[in-house]
Amino acid sequence: MVYENPDQVMIGLEVHVQLNKANTKMFCGCTTNYTDEEANTCLCAGCLALPGTTPVLNEKSVEYAIKIGLALNAEISDETDFYMKNYFYPDLGNGYQVTQFDKPIVKNGHIVIEGEDGELNVRIRRAHMEDDPGKMAHFGSIEKSTGSIIDFNRSGMPLVEIVTEPDMRTAKEARRFLDKLRSILEYLDVFDGSREGAMKADANVSVYLGTRVEVKNISSHKSVEKAINYEIMRQKDAHRKGKKLVQETRHYDEGRNVTISLRVKETADDYRYFPDFDLVPLYVGGRVEEIRAAMPELPDAKRERFVAQYGISDAHAKSLTSEKAFADLFEKVATKVDPKIAASWVADIVKGELNYRDLPVTKCDADDIACIIDLVGCKKISEESGVTIVRTMLDDGGKPDQIVAAKGLLMVGDDFLATAAKEAIAENPSAVADYRAGIEKALNFLVGKVMQKSKGKADARTARELVLKELGE
Ligand SMILES: [Zn+2]
Repeated sequence: MVYENPDQVMIGLEVHVQLNKANTKMFCGCTTNYTDEEANTCLCAGCLALPGTTPVLNEKSVEYAIKIGLALNAEISDETDFYMKNYFYPDLGNGYQVTQFDKPIVKNGHIVIEGEDGELNVRIRRAHMEDDPGKMAHFGSIEKSTGSIIDFNRSGMPLVEIVTEPDMRTAKEARRFLDKLRSILEYLDVFDGSREGAMKADANVSVYLGTRVEVKNISSHKSVEKAINYEIMRQKDAHRKGKKLVQETRHYDEGRNVTISLRVKETADDYRYFPDFDLVPLYVGGRVEEIRAAMPELPDAKRERFVAQYGISDAHAKSLTSEKAFADLFEKVATKVDPKIAASWVADIVKGELNYRDLPVTKCDADDIACIIDLVGCKKISEESGVTIVRTMLDDGGKPDQIVAAKGLLMVGDDFLATAAKEAIAENPSAVADYRAGIEKALNFLVGKVMQKSKGKADARTARELVLKELGE
């Protein structure tokens, strides 16, 4: 089936990924764990680019770049090298960024995402290694700022920039690509996506096969989606009004949800790329097979295995494998209780409650979840109470049995229910008459009265059976 794309929207992404699990920066021994440190404290002469220092390449960052390439189904270049990309910016100590040019370490890959019309293959043109500059903070908006301060802690962080072909047609597809990529990177354990600035994207957008505009440095996936939608609208509007679009770099202003022109797009020539004379060419061919052999199971493979091994639905498997931590939690719970029930509790209830509170999976213990499922399974508590326990554990802490006792969640017994059913029938003669006249809703009303008497601590199915029994059915 040919994808309907009458507006010829083309979206390509350049994604900057911080290899923040590499422990040390790309060319020196400074830590990559600077997030909680004071500004300008995780530094050395090397990452400040003081005269007389020379870079020493961090082997781990090369290994991570290869892992990423393999996960993106790409070719790994046997020989690769580093270039200087020259430009002036206050946060760039040495006046150039170390990057790669015509021999990127990774090229010609692809990943499959959920497109608007089924599976979509997004081609990866290349992925190359580079180092991060420092970070500037502006007083006020970037356009009208009266001053800026610089923190060099980030200077020299190892990055991999992943460049796609313009294979995406909607902002939603771009967002799904980023979600999938982030999930793969977390499975690879090369970066921690929860850290500030761990992943940033530039989006190249064009409509009607016209001029391509780049929106730079968007940090959240949600903002990427919004920025692209804004850009598509802006460009279509310009076409309608006969305005000429220029090839330029734009900035996405999150607060106002607009893109603003930063500068007319520069070309590769403007950067005067030339080989970095401090760094020799790098031959990695010998390491690739060794790294391939140690690759972890990735999301797509795990999803297929979950369906085959546990007999759970593809929708549950997809939801559980979107984050490695959820997949791990599910597998632990599935060793203790029926995997299908485990899947629906972890994917439908636990994940929802965690996301609602914006809490990490580490807040949940597999034993506790299994315990709740057991309590519901042997009818000691209702399913509703099970959810209450999950919520209470996340909000206030505590163990399931403590919460059951403290909140009095144990289900009422059948004797109590039988009495409640009798009472409900005696107290509501008109509902009984309605039921006998064939009005099915009246039965639900009576069951509801029984549930009310049990204060929600009854099994609805048992209550229904008992009401029917009392009615002589
Ligand atoms: Zn350093």
